Amino acid sequence: MDEQKYAKWTVEGDKKTEWNCGCCQTSDNYFKFCNTHSKILQKAIQDKIDDLDMTLVIEEKK
Ligand SMILES: [Zn+2]
Repeated sequence: MDEQKYAKWTVEGDKKTEWNCGCCQTSDNYFKFCNTHSKILQKAIQDKIDDLDMTLVIEEKK
């Protein structure tokens, strides 16, 4: 219940920035992208993950 409330607040709540295409950023720095940019950005982020030197967290199932 609490999680649902929070999700609704972040998406429909206090928008800090909103772009014409439908992308927006909320006051708690949560980004919501429109369908077009969501696809492009997801691909771009995945391409850049190697550059970010992030460590994969893999749970060992043993
Ligand atoms: Zn957009």
